[in-house]
Order: sequence, then C-alpha cells, then structure tokens
Amino acid sequence: MFPNEEACREYLSAHRWPDGVKCPRCHKSEHVYKITQPWKWECWNAECASGHAYRFSLIAGTIFENTKYPLRTWFWVLFLMLTSKKGISALQIHRVIGSGSYKTAFYMCHRLRAAMNDPEFRQLMGIVEVDETYIGGKDKNRHWDKKQGGRGTFGKTPVIGAISRKGNVVAMMIENADTATLTRFVRQTVSDKVDLVATDEHSGYRYIKWVMPHDVVAHSKGEYVRGNVHTQNIESFWSLLKRGIIGTYHNVSKKYLPLYLAEFSFRFNNRNNPDIFGTAVSGS
Ligand SMILES: [Zn+2]
Repeated sequence: MFPNEEACREYLSAHRWPDGVKCPRCHKSEHVYKITQPWKWECWNAECASGHAYRFSLIAGTIFENTKYPLRTWFWVLFLMLTSKKGISALQIHRVIGSGSYKTAFYMCHRLRAAMNDPEFRQLMGIVEVDETYIGGKDKNRHWDKKQGGRGTFGKTPVIGAISRKGNVVAMMIENADTATLTRFVRQTVSDKVDLVATDEHSGYRYIKWVMPHDVVAHSKGEYVRGNVHTQNIESFWSLLKRGIIGTYHNVSKKYLPLYLAEFSFRFNNRNNPDIFGTAVSGS
C-alpha cells in the first residue's frame, strides 16, 4: 500500500483528518489555510495566532513528529507489531527492516506502544470479568530461601485487568493487589450499569457487591464455571500476555510494563477491526 513517502502522507492525512484539516493546537478547521510548502498549513484562529499564524505540518502533534525516520519505516514497524499476535521484539523488527540500529527499533516500538493507549476509554458493560495476575521476576536470581518454584509473587509486578464478555479489555499495572487498589480499579473501569462482575474469591473484591452485582467462582474449591460466573476470558488474555512477554520479549522491566499492556490490549480490542492499522495511525 505504501510505495513511497507521499503514499504514507496521503494515508496519514486521510485518517487523521477525515473531515478536513484541523489545527492540532485549537482543533478547529475554520481559518486554517494551506501554504505553498507541501503538507503545511497555517492556523489564524485567535487562540493560536498572535500577530503571526501558527504553522503546522501533517505530523505535528503525532508520534511521528521530531524523528528522523521516514513515515514508511514507522508504518512498517507498526504493521509488524499489529500483525503478530504474541508481539514482535525490537530485535526481530531490526532484522526485518534492516536499517538503523537495534536501539532505533527499540525506540520506535516504545513510541508506537505509547500511542496505543486508548484515549477514548469507555467503562465496561454487560458481564465483566475482573482478575489480577503477576508478571516477571526471575526465580533463578533469587536467594534460595526466597525461591518459590515460580508460583509465588515475590519480585513480580501485579497487574489488574477487566474484560467485558462482548468486547474490550482494560489492563493496568498496580503497586500492590490490596483491597483499596482492586476496588478503585473496578469502580473506575466498570460501569455502574454492569449486569454482573465475576471474580475469583480473592478477599480484595469483597466490597464490590456494595456498588454493583458481583459473583465469585471458588477456584480454591475447584470451581471454575458456574453458569455465567467465570473468569476464563481474562485468564486467556493473561496467558496471551505472558506468552508474549516471556516468549517474545524475554521478560519486561517494570518501567516498560505499562507500554506492553497498552500494546496487548490494543491488539486484543481491535482483533475484529479490519482497519486496525488506520486506527493505530490516527490515534497517535
Ligand atoms: Zn489553531
């Protein structure tokens, strides 16, 4: 689709401004004029122009701004990221695009991940599963008395997630999985009008029933599904995430974990979107 830079610019423009060019600063389309330089405009709205116009380009205010890489390279990296279900490492991307350094690929991947944070988050409705998991931590580096056979949570980072049976997932890194944190997450992520919140029997979820319908599956008693009450969708998402993080990225530091969560959630939430690429480009 993108034989050259110009094709990329056409595509970006059509997706960024489907209803005509808008000023990235005041978000208005009135009093915005094309100038003779290609892909550049001027905004003369009072809030942007004080004596002289505010001049902007096609990539102003996007993640593609202030980089020396051509749009074609960005698009290629984004395409690779969006089409690999378990993620693709910066090293693999570096090998495919074959230009620049490994660091370049790493930087581009992270910048694209940051852009995948859903800006139009809507609260989850219907039947929603909530669950927490733990990511990372290398058992072999631990002192012998702290080794837990890979099953404990020592040195791992807690992540909480909610998934609507019909649609989207929201996942977030948390400092610890205490009652206050879990309750706050549910109240922020799940709509008051939810039909049912399903969790396991973790005591941190005990206050949810006060604010919304809540039911529990007792994993400790070997119960995994009771009618509509189960957490199998969020658990599938966790295993996809962990396979990606461990299999593809060979573990991920806490610093970057929110970016990987954004990437995996974006891919999951757009799994049926035929224009996932366009959505990612215009969201950035
Ligand atoms: Zn403006």
